[in-house]
Amino acid sequence: MAAGQGDLVIDQVVKDFGATGGAAAFRAVDNVSLRVAQGEIFALLGSSGCGKTTLLRMLAGFESPTSGQITLGGRDLTALAPFERPINMMFQSYALFPHLSVWDNIAFGLRREGLPKARVAERVEAMLKLVQLGKFAQRKPHQLSGGQQQRVALARSLAKQPQLLLLDEPLGALDKKLREETQLELVQILKSVGVTCMMVTHDQEEAMTMADRIGVMSEGRILQVGSPREIYETPGNRFVADFIGHANLMDGTLAVDEADHCEVQCADVRHFVGHGITGHEGMPVSVAIRPEKIRIDVRAPEPAEHAQMPMNLVQGTVREVAYMGSHTVYRLQLASGQLLKVSQGNTERHPATALKTGDAAWAWWAPSAHVVLTA
Ligand code: ATP
Repeated sequence: MAAGQGDLVIDQVVKDFGATGGAAAFRAVDNVSLRVAQGEIFALLGSSGCGKTTLLRMLAGFESPTSGQITLGGRDLTALAPFERPINMMFQSYALFPHLSVWDNIAFGLRREGLPKARVAERVEAMLKLVQLGKFAQRKPHQLSGGQQQRVALARSLAKQPQLLLLDEPLGALDKKLREETQLELVQILKSVGVTCMMVTHDQEEAMTMADRIGVMSEGRILQVGSPREIYETPGNRFVADFIGHANLMDGTLAVDEADHCEVQCADVRHFVGHGITGHEGMPVSVAIRPEKIRIDVRAPEPAEHAQMPMNLVQGTVREVAYMGSHTVYRLQLASGQLLKVSQGNTERHPATALKTGDAAWAWWAPSAHVVLTA
């Protein structure tokens, strides 16, 4: 990505906790480097304890890095106090003042900044319009629904026109249905304002729906950065493949012929056609295949079909069939004992199969559908 003037740049940031009194330090953030473009929505995605909140808190200035540098629009933030940073943070709990009206909640930070009365009123009205809460201006937070409270918190955090907005599990307090409805609404608001956003979440659906790019974190490190599609379709390692959606992971070894053409040999599949990989003979690798890329049936594909495009073909016994409406999920047990998850769309062209538990079945997929992982 081309470097822009307003970018957030996190450069080799490390955070160690507890290095006092001779106790060994715990590295919560381990040498993270990232560039987030101006106006971009970036999601840090990882399971509990991976260090995402610590990284967010360092951006806000609530924690200081053990080493490394954070700049925003070329300005070094590392030594600035939270209130000196052109950054605002929206907490999962919203942290609204219960005794203040919606209007006063939004005005709070602006008044504290000493903005003239007329400017405060102008800004609050603009924010109320942005989040469509004009009618509720005089209500107290407890008189609002969860979704409305979330919008007040958003309006309050955008009122000071920060260059960077930090969102800590922004929709975590909402129930699933409301969360889904709110995701796109929130993105629309953020994009209309053009603010750069860094959100942390452990909810991959939320990250996939809302973010332009995702950074997958584990044990303090960023393992992969990419668009939701890149992360899903070309995971860079086993952790990402397994963490984002579900991938069938099959272990095997690399076979390299004289022409340097690679194949992967797994217990259940004799010849995967390897592509885009380099390595040496016998190198351990894993093959990741998404359930929806696999076809399953009682019969193998027609030889003619197979000759046109050689498929990776496995045989097994159906152990589970779950009809889900739009698709059916199967678990096929292979000779090695491994269970292959297959998800097949129930379309008119491919209606749900008559496969049932205990049936012998074939499963196959195009070589281009899998990803070969070396880590
Ligand atoms: P969650 O989703 O549960 O909030 P997280 O990915 O945001 O998790 P962090 O809160 O960043 O994780 O914590 C990362 C690690 O650092 C954890 O193992 C945590 O116990 C540790 N940690 C966080 N704050 C401190 C602290 N002040 N002192 C010591 N260890 C800490």
